[in-house]
This record gives sequence, structure tokens and C-alpha cells, in this order.
Amino acid sequence: MAGASSSSVAASPLTEEELTLTVKWSGKEYTVRVCGDDSVGELKRRICEATNVLPKRQKLLYPKIGSKLADDSVLLSQLPLKSSLKMTMIGTVEDDIIVDQVDSPDILDDFELGQDEAVDIKDKVVNKQKLRRRADQYKIELRNPCRKGKKLLVLDIDYTLFDHQSPAEHPLQLMRPYLHEFLTAVYAEYDIIIWSATSMKWVELKMVQLGVLDNPNYKITALLDHLAMITVQSDSRGIFDCKPLGLIWAHFPEFYNSKNTIMFDDLRRNFMMNPQNGLKIKPFRKAHANRDTDQELVKLTQYLLAIADLDDISVLDHRNWELYDEANSKRRRHA
Ligand SMILES: [Mg+2]
Repeated sequence: MAGASSSSVAASPLTEEELTLTVKWSGKEYTVRVCGDDSVGELKRRICEATNVLPKRQKLLYPKIGSKLADDSVLLSQLPLKSSLKMTMIGTVEDDIIVDQVDSPDILDDFELGQDEAVDIKDKVVNKQKLRRRADQYKIELRNPCRKGKKLLVLDIDYTLFDHQSPAEHPLQLMRPYLHEFLTAVYAEYDIIIWSATSMKWVELKMVQLGVLDNPNYKITALLDHLAMITVQSDSRGIFDCKPLGLIWAHFPEFYNSKNTIMFDDLRRNFMMNPQNGLKIKPFRKAHANRDTDQELVKLTQYLLAIADLDDISVLDHRNWELYDEANSKRRRHA
């Protein structure tokens, strides 16, 4: 069937079929639902949902499979899994989350896919199915109600709002300049959702430390974490994770859709399921050196407010956002 073709994956009946696996951990048994198009990395996220053991802390054991389960990019359809056999997971829940600060999936290099391939990824049947399953299974907890008539801004954290790699005595020293001014200004036109490829504990902790959750001037609609992401496969770049906005649209169709949503992330691959909705932000790194000069959030405030009146912001090419700002300020001067 369409979308199931790939050079590296042999056709397997498991590809589209759902499989329920039993995972033993710490004396208890858990069931997780996966399918052949899921990678080992996704299986670990499903196990994380059931056990709270973070994927990177999990070691998976299964009869006759050996080291293949140590490679997150291997597809489950490539493994001889049977629902009659049990998997064993070894790993510890991260209660002391402070030990964990430097680890992040974002240290991977970003890449661009050819325009054709990006289209292909979002239209592949297998990826749409993954998205539907994720949307069915992932719960979004609203911290504040969605507001009718507002557009939606989805924000990454690491390197977008925060330099998570530099050492600092307090996280506020690593916050991107003008963060609160930016959120305050755009809140007039946009609901705000934060989506990070880390665990929910971390998302909350960082947002609390930066003062984002109790600022009186704006409200955050929801927080999303790594468990809301899906893994997709590209012909040229292999397997990678991305943030499918369709998951949010499926939860709140009366508020948000592909026409009124924009997402900021320093990694373009995170937009792969919705390339027209992504704006790749210049990464905020080396906070101590760049803290006094970084103006990205000021400039992006202008852009977001300038486009807020459009019915469909997905027709814009967000790669050219800086040109849009310039043209706009010229128009204002001549008016
Ligand atoms: Mg990031």
C-alpha cells in the first residue's frame, strides 16, 4: 500500500498491523501497543508512558534479538517480535531529575529535506496513521482554556527560549532575552503552547524556573512533551522524531487548524509533518556571550503581530519572515 515502500524495510505483515507487547519491569507487567512502522525509540516512549522510565534509561531484553534493541532507529517490523513472548525492561525512574540537565535529543544536527521529500513524509499513509494513533493516545491537559478567535503559537524550549547547554548559577541567566515581553505581546493574538522533546517533568520545571507559568500578563494554554512526538522515516535521512501539529489540531478542531497555527523551533526537522506551519528560529546558544545582543524575540513579535490579521498564515513562507518585517515597516513609514 502507498507509503509502505522503503529501500531499507522489507515488506512485512507486521508493518501496519498493531501489536500488543507485554513488558516486564520491576516485578510488574505492562502492555504497550505498537506497530511495525514504529522504531525501537518509539517503543521506548510507549514504555515510558506506562512506567515513567525515560527512554534513555531503558535497556530492553527479548529472546533471540540481542543488540538490535539497543538501536533506537531499528523498525519493529525488522525484529521477530511475537505477542506471545514477553519483553523485559531494566531501568530506573528518574526521581532526582536534577542529575539530568545536560542530556537532550537536541544536540543532534539539524538537516533540511528536499521540498519533495518533506511533502512525501507528511502525506505518507503510514505517518498519518502514526499521527492518528498518537492523537488518540496522548492526553493534552489544558492549563488555561483555548480562546475563540485566537491563533496558535507553538514554542520549542531548548535553544528556542532557553540555552540549555551553557553552565549557569540560575536558569534565568540562560533565558532568551525579551522572553516575557514577547509572550506578553503575542498573547493578545495567540494562544501559546509549549512543546519540548524532553519529559513533562523537565518542561514544567524549566517553565517554572523561567517564571513562564505564573506571569500575570499572559497564560500558557498547555505543555506538551516528547511523548507527543512521532518518528518518521525519510529516504535520505533515515529515522527521526518530529512534532506533528496535527496532534493538537485533532484535540481542539474548533480552535486550531493548519491555517491559524505557527510553530517556532530551532530544528527544521521537527516541522516535517507540517512544513508550512514551521518557522525555524535562530538557535539561542552561548547565552553569556549573546544575552546582550540577541533580538530575535523582539523581531519575531513584530512578525507575529503583523500576520495575526491574515485568515491563513500557512500560505506565507516563514523562511522569509525577516523580509516581511522589513516590507511592513516600509509600508508603515509610507502610509
Ligand atoms: Mg530546540
